[in-house]
Amino acid sequence: MKKTHLVTLIPGDGIGPEVIAATQKIIAAAGASIEWETRHAGASVFKQGIPSGVPQETIDSINRTKCVLKGPLETPVGFGEKSANVTLRKLFETFANIRPVSEYKGVATPYSGRNLDIVMVRENVEDLYAGIEHMQTPEVAQCLKIITRPGCEKIIRYAFEYARTQKKKKIHCATKANIMKFTEGLFKKVFEEVSKDYPEIEAQHIIVDNCAHQLVKKPEQFEVIVTTNMNGDILSDLTSALIGGLGFAPSANIGEHAAIFEAVHGSAPKYAGKDQINPTAAILSGVMMLKHLGEFEAAAKIEAAVRLTWENEKTQTRDIAGDTRAIGTNAFTEEVIRNLGRATVRAEATKETVDVRKVLTKLTGTPKTHTQVQGADIFLEFNGTPGDLGGILEHVADNTAMRLKMISNRGTKVFPGETHTSCVNHWRCRFINRNGKEISDRQIYDLLFRITELKLKWVHVEKLQDFDGKPAYSKAQGEDA
Ligand code: NAD
Repeated sequence: MKKTHLVTLIPGDGIGPEVIAATQKIIAAAGASIEWETRHAGASVFKQGIPSGVPQETIDSINRTKCVLKGPLETPVGFGEKSANVTLRKLFETFANIRPVSEYKGVATPYSGRNLDIVMVRENVEDLYAGIEHMQTPEVAQCLKIITRPGCEKIIRYAFEYARTQKKKKIHCATKANIMKFTEGLFKKVFEEVSKDYPEIEAQHIIVDNCAHQLVKKPEQFEVIVTTNMNGDILSDLTSALIGGLGFAPSANIGEHAAIFEAVHGSAPKYAGKDQINPTAAILSGVMMLKHLGEFEAAAKIEAAVRLTWENEKTQTRDIAGDTRAIGTNAFTEEVIRNLGRATVRAEATKETVDVRKVLTKLTGTPKTHTQVQGADIFLEFNGTPGDLGGILEHVADNTAMRLKMISNRGTKVFPGETHTSCVNHWRCRFINRNGKEISDRQIYDLLFRITELKLKWVHVEKLQDFDGKPAYSKAQGEDA
């Protein structure tokens, strides 16, 4: 008897319900047996006054089904609620975001004929999307970029395992390690370490801005790109444009506890309810879901039917066909259903999927590290010039184990010495030990006490540590050894 899979269905906002309904219809017509549990998240839930945008009954359903097909969710911009999308990804630790794009015959782009087939493997829960933000002073906002060794290792191993199962030969790792040496640099370092376990796959690092440039100039050189969360978010919108736009870009969010399948695009509110948009990205996300559930035959059938539909210029949606010859979302869906079974399934369609648990058992962990506190960066709110602040702080650490090494503003050293930096009221004051001996917490409290006594307002403190004898903190621009 055919297996029925239980899947949580989140129709989503804007164009979400239309593209999700199209996907459900096609999956049913392809013969896969799915029992859908419809739940909600996003705008409608924010309106009910649930600040996370994800109600408990949706969380309970996902815990039960471990598999979600989801429409896009609208996110309030700027101040206010957090993204319900990011909340879902983080709640279920779906650390791997897989975003494949491949060329469609019949969809003319400047790259047609180059057989583009690129997969973005994006870290999905860390980085600036950890969402740890603080206003430091009324004029300075700060967002913490959290990159962890286990987080890097998980996504990078996932990328290599993915490349292996999909018979890919090359992986690029795109980072900004040249500027952010400890965060993006850690990602690069772990990539170089993990790549040694996969000698058959060519591993190459590329600076992310050059990656964007190369993706536009010569995208056919890329097969798999593994990258940090924000880089991947931006680059994957770019790769979708190479093959026809966001209407063609599906994605999977994979973790140990759940997998969430959704189009890369958002809720495109101005097209909602107009029967105009392209449901391909959602349908292909459904295809990725079917493969995840082991329904390879239905998955291959749908993918082939979608491709065949695009080959016919009379059965294309408005994003590609324009206003004069486009068909609507519903008509496109019916056409895909008609084409099911008519299209020849690509012989090379691989049945192998990555086993997340296997990836997690391969993690090597963090090497033992000797750490030593060398001082502290004390961040102050202060209205005045670098000279004013330097004058006040120059002797604050007299007769202690630390000395004021420098003051920086927006990352550039402004004291001692001349500066052209345009300063704001947020200052990093670097205090470092005088004799190479470890600085205790007590010594840092004492220093903070002295600073408070001077009527200065400190806003946060970072310890300066050496790891295995090397500084584990960045220098200010213009700071000498
Ligand atoms: P968007 O992806 O919704 O739309 C940008 C443009 O892309 C549209 O105006 C349209 O021209 C085109 N487009 C998108 N999907 C299309 C489709 N299926 N067919 C044809 N054209 C399509 O991006 P946005 O306008 O920046 O965001 C709108 C809302 O969606 C925001 O609230 C945003 O936070 C949210 N969003 C959600 C997700 C998600 O749920 N995963 C992802 C991105 C954005």
